[in-house]
Amino acid sequence: MTSSADTYRHQGQRRALVRELRQRGIHDERVLAAIAAVPRHLFFEPAFEAHAYQDKAFPIGEGQTISQPFTVAYQTQLLKLQPTDHVLEVGTGSGYQCAVLLRLTPHVDSIEFNEVLFARTRQLLAHLGASGARLHCGDGSLGLPERAPFDAILVTAGAPSLPPALLRQLRVGGRLVIPVGDNQTQRMVRVTREGAESFVREEFEEFRFVPLLGASGWQQ
Ligand code: SAM
Repeated sequence: MTSSADTYRHQGQRRALVRELRQRGIHDERVLAAIAAVPRHLFFEPAFEAHAYQDKAFPIGEGQTISQPFTVAYQTQLLKLQPTDHVLEVGTGSGYQCAVLLRLTPHVDSIEFNEVLFARTRQLLAHLGASGARLHCGDGSLGLPERAPFDAILVTAGAPSLPPALLRQLRVGGRLVIPVGDNQTQRMVRVTREGAESFVREEFEEFRFVPLLGASGWQQ
């Protein structure tokens, strides 16, 4: 486990990262403030910690990655979170995105498929004093019916198509942000539930994610 030191040097590196994200088009001030506040280096393996404020994805073990800061900011901005919103994150991974979400709303559930990452991240978030989220281990491609409905659902792995369970678990007015595509590139998609059976789909930039596994994901 890493130490929980957050030095002036780290804070300066985060300010530089925020300037870079602003230049790349992130404009939601609450999202930028969340990125400025969360010490990303504490979510890294010690061997990679020195790279924590580069705008890059890095390995977190188990063949998975911590998403690039631009991707975290981009997806979070698309969610349009309000402080009372209840959000589900699919793909807890390192816990970094979860900590960013917690800066925007206290009502966060996050689900991770990989048992090793789940156990490690649960311990890390508790150690960092960021244990406000409800963490679950299981197949997030099926959502989390016992905690639905959600105002926002964020999927941090690439899906072959829109998982029907996630659409069903959106509240009317709720937003699902999910990368959808093949195993090379995915298009960022936002689906807004406008009525019981009425959904509006918008498409944004292309990204490259690790695959969403599970019943509505890619088969292992
Ligand atoms: N949000 C993470 C972070 O901040 O570090 C990045 C996550 S990584 C890009 C994607 C994660 O999705 C991996 O940890 C992977 O194990 C997880 N995952 C893949 N399929 C899943 C599923 N069906 N349900 C839940 N988690 C899943």
